[in-house]
Amino acid sequence: PVEHQRHRAHCRGTRLPHKDGLQRPGAGGVDVLHPRAQAPDPSSVALRHDAQMENTASTPVSHADLRKRIAPFRVKPRAVVRLGDDSKDFDPGYRDQFVTRADAGLALAEGVRQLGEYQARLAAQSTYAVLVILQAMDAAGKDGTIKHVLSGVNPQGVTVHPFKVPSLIELQHDYLWRYQLQLPERGSIGIFNRSHYEEVLVVRVHPELLGNEHLPGAQTDIWKRRFREINDWERYLADNGVRIVKLFLNLSKQEQRRRFLDRIDEPDKNWKFNVADALERERWDDYQHAYEEVLSATSTKYAPWHVVPADHKWFARLAASWIILDALMDIDPKYPKVDPQTRAKMLEIKERLLAEGRHRE
Ligand code: ATP
Ligand code: MG
Repeated sequence: PVEHQRHRAHCRGTRLPHKDGLQRPGAGGVDVLHPRAQAPDPSSVALRHDAQMENTASTPVSHADLRKRIAPFRVKPRAVVRLGDDSKDFDPGYRDQFVTRADAGLALAEGVRQLGEYQARLAAQSTYAVLVILQAMDAAGKDGTIKHVLSGVNPQGVTVHPFKVPSLIELQHDYLWRYQLQLPERGSIGIFNRSHYEEVLVVRVHPELLGNEHLPGAQTDIWKRRFREINDWERYLADNGVRIVKLFLNLSKQEQRRRFLDRIDEPDKNWKFNVADALERERWDDYQHAYEEVLSATSTKYAPWHVVPADHKWFARLAASWIILDALMDIDPKYPKVDPQTRAKMLEIKERLLAEGRHRE
């Protein structure tokens, strides 16, 4: 409850004192999680200069800090979830203590940098895979989040799969088949831009789609059963080294309206506007209800959901980077150590290479 009070207070722009002592003065560099706390006095040119110097050497975000930051977004298993205006828990406009996009810039850059570092170790270790599942209503910013959050990661270590309306071939298989085919391999990060959750979201809002799925016999309790099947599948994946990170970008209906209007008014954004999206908007309440049930039923210890505030795109990106980074920090991948025999062989080769150089000189 205290966490929620803080969460709501932040959402309304009220500033509560930091109870958690996250601030780390004297740690060297700018504390990226508290830009305001260390903002230079605008009257002092010298101070401003210092801050700029420090900006190039910001402090890495610690795992303990991250855990506290993302705690309000995590859905507890079987929690009753309410979205929308009367939600006590999840406000799409939440932005922690960051006020503007610029405030959050340094923190995002730091998160992106750390993601790159961890991904390099994840690839070298080649034991775990990270599967990021992105779900949202239209115009919530899935694409921009992928673009920004993964900008520091080696492209060879990431795969992104957008899932659209299933093809005729896909419909000839069980509903999880096409998602299984696109799972990331060990050592890499896979992003599902939409995912198997569409099977209990869009298909639930439009149950006539079930008619295309060639299902055997009468499907009683189909949604409950699909929740169970999805949980079972995810548990199997988690047990076998796939770390699952589930993000629901939580956009408000008013902000979606604003973004749709932008897409209509700005010629360069016209291509993003889809008439079908406007039709889905008319089913907003049905989707919100479907999401509430999904979040309740499929947030598990091994694959928890995170409700990411998405009315400020820059905050959604920052929060997504924190949540993915937290998963990588949990894995804590290590560069593999070579065995003594291989090491001895390496040193032998080194000697030969050095001798080659001496010979040339
Ligand atoms: P963007 O609009 O930014 O390109 P998008 O994810 O909305 O991203 P679209 O091509 O507009 O991509 O939409 C994909 C559509 O496919 C969505 O309406 C989604 O609900 C639908 N879809 C995805 N999976 C399924 C599924 N299993 N069954 C039915 N429809 C699905
Ligand atoms: Mg779309």
